[in-house]
Parts: sequence; C-alpha cells; structure tokens
Amino acid sequence: MTAISFEFFPPKTDEQRDGLERTVRALKPRMPEYVSMTFGAGGSTLSYTVDAVRNLHGAHGLDAAPHLSCMGGTREEIRALLDDYRALGVHRIVALRGDLPSGMASFGDFRYASDLVAFIRAETGAHFHIEVACYPEVHPQAEDAQADLVHFKRKVDAGANGAITQYFYNADGYFRFVDAARRLGVDAPIVPGVMPIANFSQLKRFSEMCGAEIPRWLSRRLGAFGDDVDAIREFSADVVAALCRQLVAGGAPGLHFYTLNRAKPTEAILERL
Ligand code: FAD
Repeated sequence: MTAISFEFFPPKTDEQRDGLERTVRALKPRMPEYVSMTFGAGGSTLSYTVDAVRNLHGAHGLDAAPHLSCMGGTREEIRALLDDYRALGVHRIVALRGDLPSGMASFGDFRYASDLVAFIRAETGAHFHIEVACYPEVHPQAEDAQADLVHFKRKVDAGANGAITQYFYNADGYFRFVDAARRLGVDAPIVPGVMPIANFSQLKRFSEMCGAEIPRWLSRRLGAFGDDVDAIREFSADVVAALCRQLVAGGAPGLHFYTLNRAKPTEAILERL
C-alpha cells in the first residue's frame, strides 16, 4: 500500500482550531504514515506550530512533523525549537528555507535550507528524520533547472532522509525530475506533493507565487465551471486521482497531500484511489 501523509497549517483562532480538529478526525482513519504542520516564514506562526504539533502528537497519537523554516531565524532560536520538539517526542522534521516576509530585512543565520539541514544534523545527530522540499518544475528563484537540482542534492548530502515535491499537475515533469536526481546520485525517496483543487482562484494565486504550472487544458476546464463548486470538486477529484494513480504506477514512493486543513477535497481523491 502506498504511504500517504497529510499537511496542515497551524490554526490561530478557535474556529480554525475546531475546523482542523474535524479535519484530523475525518482523515485519521486513512492511516497516514505521518502528518506535517507548516511554519510561517520568519517565525510568524512559531507558537501556533508548536501547539498544533503537540496536539496532533499528544491528543491524536499521530506521528507529527513540524515544518521548520530558517529564513530570518538565529542558531539559538532554532536550537531552542529543536530542544522543544525533542522534549515533545517529535522525531521527524520538514526542513525549509522559507521566504523572506515583506518588511524583514535580514536572512538570519542561515542562507539556504541545506545550511539548516547541516545544523540540525550537527546539533541532534540522527534523532530527526529530515524531509526537504524539491521542485520538479524548478524553484522560481533558481538560476536554472540544473542548478536547482544540484542545490537539492546539497540538502540530501547535508543529511536529509527524503524529499517532498512542490505540487504539480504534470506527471512527466516529476518522473523526469526523479530520473535526473538519480543520475546525479540522489537516492533519497522523492514523494510527490499533491494539491487537491477546491478553489480555482485560490489555486491560481498560489501557483503564480510558487511557480507551479496549471496546464492550459486544466485551467480552461476549471474556468469553464464558473461558480459551480460541486462540478469543480467532482472534476478536479477525478483529475487529481488520475494523476496520483499515474504517479504510484510509475514508482512514486508515497503521496503527500496539501490538505489546506480541509478533509473533503483530499477524501474525494482517496475515495477514487
Ligand atoms: P532552498 O533549498 O534553500 O532553495 C531556495 C532557492 O535557493 C532555490 O532557488 C535554490 O535553487 C537556491 N539555492 C539553494 N542552495 C543554494 C546555493 N548554495 N547557492 C545558490 N542558490 C541556492 N514555506 C514556509 O515558509 N513554511 C512552510 O511550512 C513551508 N512548507 C513547504 C513544504 C513543501 C513540501 C514545499 C515544497 C515548500 C514549502 N514551503 C514552506 C515553501 C518554501 O519555503 C519555499 O519554496 C522557499 O522559497 C524555498 O524553500 P527551500 O527549503 O526549498 O529552499
């Protein structure tokens, strides 16, 4: 059976907390290998991420992996966070650079995610299983695809155990990326990040920011549904489930779902698999 994992973002209000609670209860029976909790750039969600991880780990008994982005952070801050996570019994981390929030002038003590991975290994040895991010459609700030790939390898060489990709809707791009990484000597598992489609205009906005491509045919079809939310849900669940099938058939070692704290779009895909 293919391993699956779910990504959530930390709730800040009681309403959001209740919503996440319902989502976690709905998705838990799918037996995720682990669940992950994002981290706001520049530490903007720090205490929320820690609280949410404590809840997923303590109250739900899930293997909860906090994301840790180093942009703007100091060694002391990251060290303290690693200590907190160890004390909570966490043994998996998603290590990222993050993006410089507007108004924040300094990178902090770490320039790239590879520096963070090296720091986590130096500080905590083999305690944490470390996942990093990678980009089959190329990170928007990379000089070019090959340089991005070499930078990805740097993170694995620094001690990452595995990688989760940015989301995409083109399986060939993923397979070619994995082949290129293997040729470069990267043998860590590369798990596709899967973005269910619930809200087309939100997806368009996200995709422009992070450099993920929505194929023209998909964009045109989704656009044609207008405000018919049910039709968008059905159609996009079919499309994304077909993508997942293709990925798994082609050897993807797992599927990581970006749930955006909503159960239904992810469930609709899982039901089809
Ligand atoms: P890096 O690996 O450091 O790469 C960033 C850029 O620098 C790339 O263009 C790379 O090619 C380049 N680069 C790397 N090393 C070098 C070098 N030595 N010399 C020159 N260039 C180099 N963001 C958050 O803020 N919080 C989250 O919780 C979060 N979760 C994410 C989860 C996943 C699965 C993914 C795919 C992304 C997530 N992000 C998150 C977004 C991520 O922080 C951004 O994509 C960010 O811009 C890059 O982070 P990174 O860890 O890939 O950075």
